[in-house]
Amino acid sequence: MFKAIRILILLAILATVAGTTLYNRWQSQSWHRTQVVTLYPINAAGDAVTEDYLQRLDASAFAELEPYFRQQAARYQLGLDQPIRIVLGGRVQALPPAVPRDRGIASAIVWSLRMRCWAWRHTPASSPIPDVKMFLMYHPPTYSGALPHSIGLEKGRLGLVHLFAHKAQQGPNQVVVAHETLHTFGASDKYDPFTLQPIAPDGYAEPYQSPLLPQDKAELMAGRVPTKPATSRIPNGMKETVIGALTASEIGWTKHR
Ligand SMILES: [Zn+2]
Repeated sequence: MFKAIRILILLAILATVAGTTLYNRWQSQSWHRTQVVTLYPINAAGDAVTEDYLQRLDASAFAELEPYFRQQAARYQLGLDQPIRIVLGGRVQALPPAVPRDRGIASAIVWSLRMRCWAWRHTPASSPIPDVKMFLMYHPPTYSGALPHSIGLEKGRLGLVHLFAHKAQQGPNQVVVAHETLHTFGASDKYDPFTLQPIAPDGYAEPYQSPLLPQDKAELMAGRVPTKPATSRIPNGMKETVIGALTASEIGWTKHR
């Protein structure tokens, strides 16, 4: 019995080490070539307004993203002219597994496995082959309350992103897509999960400006522009966000501190 447990523990350690090594290798090699991020729109509630929006949706709705990553990578001297290519993939008709309501680790792991399995079954074929798959759940503009929490999975290299099906929301929508995309490359959140306020210094676009507030831009992984103490606003588009130094380090754009 003890022997079996010892072997199991050893195997678990080995699997973790192997997984981590593979992941690190993938991350460090990612930026040797352009990473393809493919977007798959989904009509979340199946309503007519969202359907109409999705019928007209084209790549112009995401046009800010490629130049943004190009420009931000240049600030960190990444040495890769185009780090991310955005591809608008085919529509997905199936709905992804529901995200568990409780915040327990076990249900999060089970959901992540189910999500990866679902993605494997339902991703439409597209060219070029995606490095990262982002499933975009569109909701009608009349959706009441806050949208469900979006998720970017580092290990599965995929994301589930909740967006508004409205042209006026395309700026903020792209910020959410960019934020969740960087989670898939290992970036961490830089806001307080309870107050949603950016955490200084790493969650601020200009952490060393004086006076510190108001800020003009958001750090992408903090997601909001701090304006007054305990107050922040949603950025209107990519032009109002930057990738901060810690995020750049986490995604492998600079050497780890
Ligand atoms: Zn996040």
